[in-house]
Amino acid sequence: MLGIGLPRDLAVVVSMQLDVQTLSVVTVFVTALLGALLVFAGLQNRAVRAPMVWGASYIVSAVGLALLTTHGASSDFISVDLANALVLLGYGLTWAGARMFDGRPVRPELVLAAPALWLVACWVPAFAADINLRVVLVSAMMAMLAAVTAEEFWRGRDEPLMSRWPTVVVLLAYGAALLARIPATMLSPILEGQTLMHGVSFALLAFGTLLFTVVMAFLLLNMTKERTELEHKIASLIDPLSGVPNRRAFLDGSARLLAQQARDGEPLAVFLFDLDRFKLINDRLGHAVGDKVLQLFAESATATLGSEILFGRIGGEEFAAVLAVGDLGEAVAVADRVRRNFAAAAEGHGGAELLPTVSIGVTMDSNPQTEIKALLAQADRALYRAKANGRNRVESTGSAAAAETTEAPVIDIDMRRAWRSAAARA
Ligand code: GH3
Ligand code: MG
Ligand code: MG
Repeated sequence: MLGIGLPRDLAVVVSMQLDVQTLSVVTVFVTALLGALLVFAGLQNRAVRAPMVWGASYIVSAVGLALLTTHGASSDFISVDLANALVLLGYGLTWAGARMFDGRPVRPELVLAAPALWLVACWVPAFAADINLRVVLVSAMMAMLAAVTAEEFWRGRDEPLMSRWPTVVVLLAYGAALLARIPATMLSPILEGQTLMHGVSFALLAFGTLLFTVVMAFLLLNMTKERTELEHKIASLIDPLSGVPNRRAFLDGSARLLAQQARDGEPLAVFLFDLDRFKLINDRLGHAVGDKVLQLFAESATATLGSEILFGRIGGEEFAAVLAVGDLGEAVAVADRVRRNFAAAAEGHGGAELLPTVSIGVTMDSNPQTEIKALLAQADRALYRAKANGRNRVESTGSAAAAETTEAPVIDIDMRRAWRSAAARA
């Protein structure tokens, strides 16, 4: 009884208690104010530009709504044709902002399509004279713009922003309410001599629009804030030079992997990589080429290990990885693939006698209590042996006997030639 009666009672109360004129004036000012706040948010953070467009969309809509309220006091061209065109332009700009927010190109011709179609339709006397037809067209176009805006936000759902979901829901709900206006208008048309502002449905719609406007502004601002926070978080975990996780992200990630290992007992191997004679590369070829070598190593190792593997830069020219493997022999084989692929990738850029290489220490520990720092220290001991035994090789410590690879280290004669082309890629 209550469940059925309440919405209708609410509808009656809303329509009887709310004066549509007052509501409209409030909506105009609230919309304009929220538009100004969105523009302000856009000015604060130039990296996320969408709030500026959303702010413009709110301000354009506010002007359109203001013109709507002048109905009767101004010409139909101002209070009907132009007013609705501006409101439609505002909706189009919200859509454009949603595309911009997710880095998709803005399509100005499509933003202008709905207002242009509306103005052309108003130019047809039979259409202009029929208020019900006008309501149907404007509602359909607004519902469509709300739906395509929802779709834009939905398409970006891989980015973990909490406010995306309520934004999609609110846009779809508002779009559905606008669509519902079409059968409502057909079932009970606005009669000759009445204005748009008569009737229960308009009061409800005006009220709903005010709520929608406020909630959307809050959600759009929140998404902008979440985006900024996410960018800061990513920036604090990624090494800007090599684009791989930094020391902190690597240590956090490996602690998580070790905790998981303690639960499911899957053996983990820890790799420690140190580029060979890197100081020499810097000294002879310059720091910029050194940086390029670091990038190339990160790229080559990521390609070899796969992007799912935890791999990070833990120091100047030191990198580390944690991965699940069957046994130490398999771990050494993987490490050796990283070593060979890096040497080959470096070779592809030059042809000189000396190429940058990497030495790798590998360790495996089946004791789930061992901490990552202890494992890295174990791997470091293996790495020390790799350096002592001539570099460009893999050494291991752990349960199995040291598995090692042998390959004579290349001798540095002219690294400059080898890295000229690599540097040119930068
Ligand atoms: P080894 O074969 O024994 O590892 O010798 P190495 O020269 O690589 O060892 P060392 O640790 O003495 O040198 C590391 C060098 O890495 C010293 C430092 O200037 C350089 N380095 C550290 N971070 C960066 C960076 O971000 N860019 C560049 N270009 N060089 C860096
Ligand atoms: Mg080092
Ligand atoms: Mg080194």
